[in-house]
Amino acid sequence: MGLLALGTALEWPEAKTKAGQVRQWGIEQLLANWRRARGKERDALLWGDEVEYLVVALDDAAKKSRLSLAQAEILKSLARDEELWKSGSGKGSETGDHEGEDPPHFHPEFGRFMLEATPGQPWGIGFKDLLKVESNMKWRREVAKAHMAPNEVPITLTTFPRLGTKDDYIQPYYPPSGPALRSQFVPDEIANPHIRFPTLAANIRSRRGRKVELNVPVFHDTNTPRPFKDPTVNYDLYNWPEDDDVRNGAAKDDHVYMDAMAFGMGSCCLQITFQAKNMTEGRRLYDQLSPLGPILLALTAATPIYKGFLVDTDVRWNQIGNAVDDRTREELGEAPIKNDRWRIPKSRYASNSTYISQDPRLRKEYFDPDLVVDEDIKKRLMEGGMDDLLATHFAHLFIRDPLVIFSEDLEELDLNKSDHFENLQSTNWQHMRFKPPPPDKDDIGWRVEFRSMEIQITDFENAAFSIFIVLVTRAILSFDLNFYIPIQRTTENMETAHARNAVLDRKFWFRKDPFPRRVPRSAQQSTNGSTFSSTASSAVNTPPPSPPLGPVEMEFDLMTIDDIVNGCADGSFPGLIPLVESYLNSVNVDVETRCFLASYLDLIRKRADGTLWTGARWMREFVAKHPNYKQDSVVSEEITYDLVKAVEEMTVKEGKKGSVGWELLRGKTV
Ligand code: ADP
Ligand code: MG
Ligand code: MG
Ligand code: MG
Ligand code: MG
Ligand code: MG
Repeated sequence: MGLLALGTALEWPEAKTKAGQVRQWGIEQLLANWRRARGKERDALLWGDEVEYLVVALDDAAKKSRLSLAQAEILKSLARDEELWKSGSGKGSETGDHEGEDPPHFHPEFGRFMLEATPGQPWGIGFKDLLKVESNMKWRREVAKAHMAPNEVPITLTTFPRLGTKDDYIQPYYPPSGPALRSQFVPDEIANPHIRFPTLAANIRSRRGRKVELNVPVFHDTNTPRPFKDPTVNYDLYNWPEDDDVRNGAAKDDHVYMDAMAFGMGSCCLQITFQAKNMTEGRRLYDQLSPLGPILLALTAATPIYKGFLVDTDVRWNQIGNAVDDRTREELGEAPIKNDRWRIPKSRYASNSTYISQDPRLRKEYFDPDLVVDEDIKKRLMEGGMDDLLATHFAHLFIRDPLVIFSEDLEELDLNKSDHFENLQSTNWQHMRFKPPPPDKDDIGWRVEFRSMEIQITDFENAAFSIFIVLVTRAILSFDLNFYIPIQRTTENMETAHARNAVLDRKFWFRKDPFPRRVPRSAQQSTNGSTFSSTASSAVNTPPPSPPLGPVEMEFDLMTIDDIVNGCADGSFPGLIPLVESYLNSVNVDVETRCFLASYLDLIRKRADGTLWTGARWMREFVAKHPNYKQDSVVSEEITYDLVKAVEEMTVKEGKKGSVGWELLRGKTV
């Protein structure tokens, strides 16, 4: 039991008995809030990004890099500084002039070696704001660094290559294993000590009935043993009952095995939140962005190494899913249903499973007929006035148990709060999140969060992907685009995105004709003779006539990411970049802004066609060429140190005033 100002966090067996109450109260809070907020209109089009960092301590003499567990000290120091800024004594910056900009916000994250930073204010939709994003991101990095020890740096790798190895990869050093995680690889001290986090980890494990299990296929290089048996696994530990997991076969041959929430929730990502003008628009954006999730995951791939080994996957997504998978054997389908309510096909961290927009184009064939919903909750929501689609969405999220419950919160239901609702909502980590307005903040509207992207090494890339998604949302709304495919195809695409080099080697399900049944004028003609539109595919200007509703299977096809981003050669899909260019042509953008945006779009275009590498590819090449690498999949401490140094150098150089990330990007031709 954790005692803190917040209250008493219940351990699993007791929390379980309160789960029904929390769900019920959460649903009442949702209904009350939905009734108040459903008519909110004309909210400003705002958006904001979230960038997550690893804090790494460099020991140049020993050529070692370690994760620094300094989150609390750094955040404390940052908070003091934010006060200074508010009082008007903010200092100058290497990354340019930020006068008049609110200082960035920093937040804690699961890992005690992590930081998250968001802009001081959400971005407006004006093009001028798009130009501030990259420099603001660089500024955030600079501010963060200024509050670290001299040898510490914030880097934006998704995962630390040697997290969980036998060496002293953390500073200060703590040996495994503790009562919360019971990991044989990482100590409890790796996690943020706030009671919420150890409780979350312990209750996931306890609900599940064993430790979480991450088996990532190893990348077989010429000298990698076959079968590969993860040499870091200890089969002779007897500290906790969970130490039996590996004796019961938890660690699979030819896989890198990990056993704790920190291996997933210790990863960094890039998230974008959009505010829609009303709930209807929010629901539409949620649906239309959903099929893009796996595509952007593959495009941003940056996770080729786990626990000191090259792996055969390129992205973090499923590892986080496994790291927080609280399903029991019954729910997983490994045992007949006796005590639990149903089989659940996905982890609570997974791709979305349903659509929510009241869009006449949303065909019944796009839904998952086997979607698991809590029918009592759905009934209650519909009795309360909510429509079937939205009620289904929330009744699906609410099939889960709340994991962290404070006993003090169970005394009285407050319908002006959203704590019980958020308890379920915020532990359903899907690739899109539909965020209702907070009941206590009148100025915030209905928001949609795009959550699948991997964090990129440079802020140029992070800005490029953020801005690209923003422009895609503008094109979606302005051309009334239709990206619907059956939702199970998106689930499949999410798996596909994991394959090594999926960005170039794999095909993804995608809708062919994105245009509404009547072609909008804005997509047919450009109102601006800007020369930057020269790459816009002619397919955009002369979209094929929409066929009558035929079999759903005719609507979509397997495409490469290049097809999806740059357009199919045969014109069957116009391409996201040409659609964005077409949108930019339809609005008035000055030449300078257009030029700026062009450099970002160029990165996306070239990443998709293979001219530029993903971060994952760059890291693989870095390791392969390192003199210390023995073609045995092992990413040693020395390689890791050099890799972190190279990454750090890239960001430092990029951060200097006036420099553009473009030239510094590892723009290698394949
Ligand atoms: P969470 O971690 O729950 O996703 P954060 O508060 O960390 O949320 O980040 C949310 C992002 O949304 C930030 O970039 C923030 O600037 C942005 N944001 C804040 N308010 C709004 C708003 N009204 N509309 C759109 N974005 C917003
Ligand atoms: Mg956040
Ligand atoms: Mg958060
Ligand atoms: Mg975060
Ligand atoms: Mg994270
Ligand atoms: Mg977020």
